[in-house]
Amino acid sequence: MYNCIICRYHEIATKGNNRNMFEKCLVDNIRHMLRDAAPGCRVRRIRGRVWIEPEEEPAFQAEILERIISILPGVFGLESFSPAILLPVDMDIIRQTAVDLAPEVFAAHPVDHPTFRVRARRSNKRFPLTSQQIEIDLVTAIAEKVGENKFDIDLKNADITLGCEIRDEFSALYFDIYRASGGLPVGSNPRVLTLLSGGIDSPVAAWQIMKRGSPTDFITFHSSPYTPPETVDKVRSIAALLNKFQRRGRLFIVNLAEFQKTVRDCCSPRMRTILYRRAMFRIAEAVARREDCKALVTGEALGQVASQTVDNMDTINRAIDMLVLRPLVGADKLEAIAIAEKIGSMKLSSIQVPDSCTVFAPSNPATAASVNLALQEEAKIPDYAGILEKIINDIEIDA
Ligand code: ATP
Ligand code: MG
Repeated sequence: MYNCIICRYHEIATKGNNRNMFEKCLVDNIRHMLRDAAPGCRVRRIRGRVWIEPEEEPAFQAEILERIISILPGVFGLESFSPAILLPVDMDIIRQTAVDLAPEVFAAHPVDHPTFRVRARRSNKRFPLTSQQIEIDLVTAIAEKVGENKFDIDLKNADITLGCEIRDEFSALYFDIYRASGGLPVGSNPRVLTLLSGGIDSPVAAWQIMKRGSPTDFITFHSSPYTPPETVDKVRSIAALLNKFQRRGRLFIVNLAEFQKTVRDCCSPRMRTILYRRAMFRIAEAVARREDCKALVTGEALGQVASQTVDNMDTINRAIDMLVLRPLVGADKLEAIAIAEKIGSMKLSSIQVPDSCTVFAPSNPATAASVNLALQEEAKIPDYAGILEKIINDIEIDA
């Protein structure tokens, strides 16, 4: 019976000059996300809302509607959405449709004697009834149809809410409001590059930055032959999952083994992890500049492991001259896990495979390594720049 879906987004993000860009981006992204599930459906924006309609059929087929309902929560920038019935701007037709629908909705509700309310919104100021008059009109008509004793009115927290929107060109009725992720449409902020390990945190960090509107490419470091191919396969599957939230981000696959061997042979064992990290940052920065990504993203959380003390983060950070976004810096592991579960990355991250950082890693890493110390250690490496250049030239790209 539903012949449209009303999509709502935050007006705040659409103030001023950004409004057009934001809305266009949101509509493009919805079209892109629905291209397989609901090919041919129409996506339009009309004053502060996005409307999705089937292309030719009079209403959505049930399974297509179900697919759309499962996809829309992952579209960043959407606050909520409702499958709805599009109607002419005519109170008699609106009332009749509400009365026809109500018995089925009440019968399907799990609560025996549910609470009920009508919420009307009227942007068409020429409509003869006020919002409140529309609400009273519809409640009265529905009470007559299903029986007054079938429900109680609760204006705040009703079990069943009938929504009614009166616009200039059409009106709409709906019963369900589905929550979406919020945030900003991917593409409304510049592209970034996420350092993606097989761990729990970095996929969550990438998701959070996409949610703020930045599409992301991915870069991962392995240490073949000291890490097995599964190390990279795992990251590939995580990148594929994250790409469901955006248009395809590329995965840059970097073999750090040559550098790690040199560090093992030339430098203090306690400094290895820090030196690996500084090299990862430098390589990531070079790729980001080449590919026009405006910042790096990591899943670092303050104090979580030895390389994430304030001192070490500072020392690692100073290897480069580029903004590093760390959306999880203040998060607890449990908070990161909760998001990982929600977005579906947790089960992929839980697969146990060797990590690049642990190759030749010491059991007692330095927890407060100064930049000077790092520079001294790096000076012991013959042709540091040449090794990195060769590694960068050998990067494999999954496009
Ligand atoms: P994660 O769960 O994301 O691996 P973590 O808690 O294991 O994080 P670290 O291993 O210290 O923490 O890594 C911190 C951040 O450094 C990661 O979130 C990621 O952004 C980046 N990083 C670490 N190892 C790699 C790697 N092999 N490839 C790409 N990025 C990495
Ligand atoms: Mg890790």
